[in-house]
Amino acid sequence: MSCFISKYADELAKNAAYIGTPGKGILAADESTGTIGKRLSSINVENVEDNRRALRELLFTTPGALQYLSGVILFEETLYQKTASGKPFVDVLKEGGVLPGIKVDKGTVELNGTNGETFTQGLDGLAQRCQKYYEAGARFAKWRAVLKISANEPTELAIQENANGLAMYAAICQQCGLVPIVEPEILVDGSHDIKKCAAVTERVLAACYKALNDHHVMLEGTLLKPNMVTPGSDSPKVAPEVIAEYTVRALQRTVPAAVPAIVFLSGGQSEEEATLNLNAMNKLQTKKPWSLSFSFGRALQQSTLKAWAGKEENVKKAQDAFLVRCKANSEATLGTYKGDAKISEGAAESLHVKDYKY
Ligand code: 13P
Repeated sequence: MSCFISKYADELAKNAAYIGTPGKGILAADESTGTIGKRLSSINVENVEDNRRALRELLFTTPGALQYLSGVILFEETLYQKTASGKPFVDVLKEGGVLPGIKVDKGTVELNGTNGETFTQGLDGLAQRCQKYYEAGARFAKWRAVLKISANEPTELAIQENANGLAMYAAICQQCGLVPIVEPEILVDGSHDIKKCAAVTERVLAACYKALNDHHVMLEGTLLKPNMVTPGSDSPKVAPEVIAEYTVRALQRTVPAAVPAIVFLSGGQSEEEATLNLNAMNKLQTKKPWSLSFSFGRALQQSTLKAWAGKEENVKKAQDAFLVRCKANSEATLGTYKGDAKISEGAAESLHVKDYKY
């Protein structure tokens, strides 16, 4: 390994390995104020701080749910919020054995001269923000880079700029004690087949690991959050076993064994689809030097949101729906999910939004 020096080295490796504990995964509840507004408006709830807080409280205090989670990604506002009875969310999570994480990127901007490809912002002042978040209890971070598949995309420029951005972010996080989640999301939009998605995923991941090495990032103290390898959203669907085979092969070819865990994003799959695909990967008999788990946003929250609809009297029903998804995904990390989760309203619904912005 190239000269990695951080006083946090042992802690980073320990926390990254903990997040990858089989049977546990990550809830991505780090929707920015704009994104959560879209979720809330889908259930006719106003996008004001107390409603955002109430939704997060509902999730974090669901009886029995935290045993299935090892991390929760928060947006900055949520990191400092408390339950209605005054307990900091960070303490609720820590007491439940769950590490608080923080979204540190500042969204994307268009790369000049490209057909709508983007670069992720947020490197300026990142070290100062990371130090502040560490003090507030955060132990890992997320940075989402976005790539797309079309006739001439992703371009080499987009792949290199995003790989370098992720590597610079990862190096800064590690200096400040935060485990970086490296997230190069290849959007599902398009009519390409699964082979095309596999080829692009391999090219993108290979570039990311080259950049991480160049930037002296200690891989034992990182996590990868990739897309699953699937056909494009405008192509016919394929079975979970096919997705599992293509996805695991792409990862075997590109992700070093030093990485403790790979935590997938759901990327617009329905709740049930995402769970079945993860389960199929964990059932697959092949070489897997990392654990394969989840870091789902939409695929952990959709049926909960629908059940809640912003009404106090629905909190119990919504928490029941959340628990069902947490347990099903926990089983999927072990390859033991039987497809028997009670399907609540919304669980089978596609959550795909074209050109999704987080
Ligand atoms: P989805 O699981 O909804 O794709 O989002 C996860 C996430 O955190 C994207 O950055």
